[in-house]
Amino acid sequence: MYTEMAEVIDHDVTTITCICGNTVGKEGLIQADSHGVPVHFAEDTLPPDGLAAWPEDEDLYTLCPSCGRVYRDNVIEETGTAPVAFQVDVTTDPIATAIRVHWEQKA
Ligand SMILES: [Zn+2]
Repeated sequence: MYTEMAEVIDHDVTTITCICGNTVGKEGLIQADSHGVPVHFAEDTLPPDGLAAWPEDEDLYTLCPSCGRVYRDNVIEETGTAPVAFQVDVTTDPIATAIRVHWEQKA
């Protein structure tokens, strides 16, 4: 099966240019869990309603909130390539709510 590959620079997940063209500087990229649900950024406090907890095994993914493609951070950091791990529907819950809560939290 053909795997879509995003562009990434120097094994750095924050430099991903998603297949859809989104970047951190455009619509942003969000740290997510292995289901593609945006995670709470802190390990030591409870996540607000809607966000997933920080994964205990630190197995983090990067969600493109524009198209729903998800990249696995470990793969990017180890290989310097950014294959699409899977894709989620950003318009349905729990992803849609989590994305909204994520941005409200940053504001
Ligand atoms: Zn995208």
